[in-house]
Amino acid sequence: MPDDLIAPRRNQFMNNEKAVAIGSRFWEETAAHGLAGIVASLGKDGYFTTDNGHRFVNLSCCSYLDLDSHPHIIQGAIRALEKYGVLDHCISRVRVQMPALLELEDSLSSLFRAKVVTAISASAASAGILPLIASGHLANGEKPVVVFDKNAHFSMNLYKAVCADETEVLTAPHNDMNFLEDVCKKHKNVAYICDGTYSMGGHAPAEELLALQEKYGLFLYFDDSHSLSIVGEKGEGYIRSSIQEVNDRTIIVATLNKAYGAAGAAIMFGPKRSDQALTLERFGGPLAWSQPMNTAAIGGALAAAEIHNSPELKERQEKLQRNIKLFDARIDTEQKGLQFPIRVVRASHENVINVGLDLYRQGFYVSPVFFPIVARDKAGLRVMLRAGMPESEVQRLCDTILRNKLF
Ligand SMILES: *Cc1c(COP(=O)(O)O)cnc(C)c1O
Repeated sequence: MPDDLIAPRRNQFMNNEKAVAIGSRFWEETAAHGLAGIVASLGKDGYFTTDNGHRFVNLSCCSYLDLDSHPHIIQGAIRALEKYGVLDHCISRVRVQMPALLELEDSLSSLFRAKVVTAISASAASAGILPLIASGHLANGEKPVVVFDKNAHFSMNLYKAVCADETEVLTAPHNDMNFLEDVCKKHKNVAYICDGTYSMGGHAPAEELLALQEKYGLFLYFDDSHSLSIVGEKGEGYIRSSIQEVNDRTIIVATLNKAYGAAGAAIMFGPKRSDQALTLERFGGPLAWSQPMNTAAIGGALAAAEIHNSPELKERQEKLQRNIKLFDARIDTEQKGLQFPIRVVRASHENVINVGLDLYRQGFYVSPVFFPIVARDKAGLRVMLRAGMPESEVQRLCDTILRNKLF
């Protein structure tokens, strides 16, 4: 009997043989040019220095507001360790938890105007949540058809196969609202899984998605890790600030490890959804059986919440926007004009790694992306701007890009 009659078809959602072959070619070439595997320490001035004294600005780093080294956040971590006297008391929070975690969740709930549950990372949050959406436990009690955006982050795509063991899983072309509406017309219950803001630039069409939710009851799961802290009055992010109130049919996840400046992740539910939170705490995979945020992370995140509640947040947000505008005024990219800090500067497949290397020598570390990681004609340099970069450095970055032969 043919194998596929007695066992499910393999590699419907993942194919490591292909992925590793493709990834290896990319990483071998990047490492051969000295642009991967770099060892360097972060100095107080925000520059990295390698063992042999090469100084550079890290433009591949997602700490967009430069809060990661903020003294108040470092002190918050230390204070919490001293106060509670334990880094991580190993027990699932379902049984016993420290008041510090609840204090943080209260603080984040009021900051983001939603019921917030924390996780050790956004990846762990998706691991816990997505299977429960697929089984209907976080949606209406009925199993939805689960649609993933084609460009959804690795941390979500990893669970397609797990979701497919519960329900039908489809992959939509990137940001294709017609595709999604067709699925909504055919099926009573649909859940859509996507990034709020994408790691290669661009964002989900929030308004159109909310309109589909209004019309068809679409369930929405957003991972908005890239826009938390940089968008919104309290740094609630692009998606949260596009929504009046988080409703029963929406969950937003965001890492606290990027612009927020600490560690861990926030999961935002509707304000009255303690039931969803409890389901997640008991049955949400690693959220139930793995470690919660540790004391240092909690202390750092509490201190970061204080910064988010102070005028300093707006100052940093504005500084970031000024740097983005300076860059956009000189360098043409598809992302030009967007408020998000990720830009992909196009270059030819042949030239891109040498441009990356020249930038590194001039003190700017950016990530060259090229075939086979992206299509041959989509090669480029992924540049992530930050609030802490002096304007003169942004100008020098642009000068260096422009004096290179991109094509
Ligand atoms: C960076 C990123 C993650 C990883 O976040 P962790 O908290 O480190 O797991 C997850 N999702 C998206 C969209 C990201 O950009």
